[in-house]
Amino acid sequence: MKDTNLIARCGLYCGACRAYLLLKKDLFEEKGYKQGCKGCKIRNKNCAFLKKQCAPLRKGEYKYCSECDEMPCPNLKKLNDGYEKRYGVSLVANIERLREVGEEKWIKEQIEFYKCPECGGEICVHDDECYDCGLKYNPNKEKYKT
Ligand code: SF4
Ligand code: SF4
Ligand SMILES: [Zn+2]
Repeated sequence: MKDTNLIARCGLYCGACRAYLLLKKDLFEEKGYKQGCKGCKIRNKNCAFLKKQCAPLRKGEYKYCSECDEMPCPNLKKLNDGYEKRYGVSLVANIERLREVGEEKWIKEQIEFYKCPECGGEICVHDDECYDCGLKYNPNKEKYKT
């Protein structure tokens, strides 16, 4: 699969999402969840209510919120605020970065950012945990500690 398929409309990196990692690594039983996701573009839906609430996204007029002059609209702002508070992720900053550097560089940066410092595995942003070695770590929160 093309890595850029893991850029969600809302600016989240699907590769660090619990639903994506559960499915990829078949951890449903171990982690006690039932629902997985193949990523925003593959699933061709939006997980986070944005698509339901946003006509241009629904109609496929924009690939990402980065293409929208209204960014951040109230719906995105609400989602962003929740993500900042709970997981330390700024979707708005992610989208601004996507505008600045484009898809290819953005995805490379995200893959690197969510790489486990212990084992090189994949960090789940929703659980603050490496899904390969179990290290409790969220690079967004580390950043805020300094
Ligand atoms: S639920 Fe699916 S679309 Fe949403 S961030 Fe996770 S992998 Fe991406
Ligand atoms: S920022 Fe634009 S594209 Fe994204 S949800 Fe809001 S109105 Fe829709
Ligand atoms: Zn690890």
